[in-house]
Amino acid sequence: MLLNKTVLKHLLIVVLSTLPLAVFGETITLNANTQLRGEFTQGGLIRGKTLANSQVTLDGKTIRTTPNGQFAFGFGRNTARTSKIAITPPSGKMLSHTLKVHPRNYKLQKIDGVPQKTVTPPKSVLGRIKKETQLVKAARKTDSNATDFLSTFQWPLIGPITGVYGSQRIYNGTPKRPHYGLDIAAPVGTEVRAPTDVTITLAHQNMYYSGGTLIMDHGYGISSTFIHLDEVLVKVGDKIKQGDIVAKVGSKGRSTGPHLDWRINWFGVRLDPALIMPDMPTPQKK
Ligand SMILES: [Zn+2]
Repeated sequence: MLLNKTVLKHLLIVVLSTLPLAVFGETITLNANTQLRGEFTQGGLIRGKTLANSQVTLDGKTIRTTPNGQFAFGFGRNTARTSKIAITPPSGKMLSHTLKVHPRNYKLQKIDGVPQKTVTPPKSVLGRIKKETQLVKAARKTDSNATDFLSTFQWPLIGPITGVYGSQRIYNGTPKRPHYGLDIAAPVGTEVRAPTDVTITLAHQNMYYSGGTLIMDHGYGISSTFIHLDEVLVKVGDKIKQGDIVAKVGSKGRSTGPHLDWRINWFGVRLDPALIMPDMPTPQKK
């Protein structure tokens, strides 16, 4: 592939960032019927299975299960080092277990050259930003009965990883909130595919910070978000098959160059896509 200036800049960022290891995590067996698997670390998505009709709580909060007793939850960027899961089967006594959540180190990442108006937005756009933030929050509250979160996720596109989850970002010299996405560099117009079967819960052609923005529901509070898109090719309510094209890569919003920024959430909790994905395949030479 062509190493243009943008890609070179992104490669430099890779060297400066902490690359998470793309491993599939561990399995914790709580009893004969109950297993948890995933990365027990900050940003990790955990998928579990227990007896149907069990009550599941994490740190006292109820977690909804599928009719088969499957469920998901995740650990945020700065989550505590332990988390307590309690499972009560339909007949039998409560099983309680303290999960160790491994802490991570996040690097500082200096990013220069983003449009200054996206670093310190003018007052005139604050209303627009607030409205867009509300739309995103609402979409991430979706709690459907889809079980696509149990699928093996596939890469939405192939390309160099140029930004990682959790890094604290300094835009044009101004410290900002951490970056929660996994950035994959690709030319504008590159097709982006659905990571699993999904239902579209938000489709916006141009948000102030995030440009073309797409939120997809995987079920039970797990969602994927794609941002900085040049074009969104689907609409809210569409049911999309895994691997189908949903959008085109862009560089809209607060972005330094064309890339896909992929985020995964468990409701409002931000997870790290890299922790559930295998290594990025080598790009095909053109
Ligand atoms: Zn990004």
